[in-house]
Amino acid sequence: MATVRRFFVEKAEGETSLTGDEFSHAVNVLRLREGDEVVLLDGSGVEYDAVVRRVGRHELVCGVVGSRPSDKEPRTRVRLLVGALKGDKTELVVQKATELGVAEIGVFTSRYSSAYMNENKVQRLRKVAREAAKQCLRATVPTVEYYPDLAAALASCGAFPNKLFACEFAQKSDADLRALCGACTLAVGSEGGFSEEEFALARAAGFAGVTLGRRILRAETAAIAFTAVAMFALGELG
Ligand code: SAH
Repeated sequence: MATVRRFFVEKAEGETSLTGDEFSHAVNVLRLREGDEVVLLDGSGVEYDAVVRRVGRHELVCGVVGSRPSDKEPRTRVRLLVGALKGDKTELVVQKATELGVAEIGVFTSRYSSAYMNENKVQRLRKVAREAAKQCLRATVPTVEYYPDLAAALASCGAFPNKLFACEFAQKSDADLRALCGACTLAVGSEGGFSEEEFALARAAGFAGVTLGRRILRAETAAIAFTAVAMFALGELG
């Protein structure tokens, strides 16, 4: 069965146009034509069934014919903070975290991280999140923000009932991952790891240190495994 193509739009209503990247993808890559069925997503958690009405030079006009709440979105809000990683590793983490159901992603620079971030890279990460969200049938795209230091990333988390800091040198966990319940922020370091001072800063900001076991995981493994374990404990992967 051919899957119905999914597109994110600003707002889905009556007649809705695909423009920009979504237009090019729909017309040049997927070769959508008048009469084809699509699903439009406006990030509100609702899926809109629509039919292609017209294909113009710069826009593809769809008519919305129905809608339903998505059953794919997690019930629990999970925010992932991850140190900026080298090469395309941050993209990998954004892609996997999106599939696993995170709502928000914060990328930060910390004392021992050497990867460089700029606005273009953040835009690229947002695109990766959008594509991953479509592929795994989500109805919302996780937000992606960049914080130039760990303090700003930690401060961005506000009132989460659970704030967990994966610390490679923590001997034991200060929180029980198995008993996790309610919204969570998960923080994971970059390849260089965290310093003692950064761990102290996180604790002062209300984070509980957790260990992910006796082996040192690569940063991307840690970010993906930590997210998966938390989602499982929250009942989102069962
Ligand atoms: N360069 C560091 C390792 C960094 S691992 C060293 O040699 O010690 C990158 C990040 O993954 C860490 O900052 C931590 O957030 C997470 N991580 C990796 N292994 C972990 C473990 N066993 N327990 C908790 N966090 C871990």
